[in-house]
Amino acid sequence: MADSDTARIAKLEEGFENHFAFSLNEAEQAEFKAWYAEHDITCSIRDGHTAIGGRFTFCFTKMTIGDKCLVKCACGGEKDVSDYGHW
Ligand SMILES: [Zn+2]
Repeated sequence: MADSDTARIAKLEEGFENHFAFSLNEAEQAEFKAWYAEHDITCSIRDGHTAIGGRFTFCFTKMTIGDKCLVKCACGGEKDVSDYGHW
């Protein structure tokens, strides 16, 4: 393995170890909004049922090739909104 490869891998590892900013890209936001629109029809919990919100929890799993995001509704419903095509 060439030195430049080793340095590049070390830089990738350093970037991974220091990455703690999690967010949804546009495709993931669109995926969530589409799921929300469909899920909200049958969900047993309404937005007004919680005084300060908290109906949806966004669970990010930090992986070496991208961040996986599983959205969980307080009713137990969940949707993987990860943009795997972007990885
Ligand atoms: Zn729900």
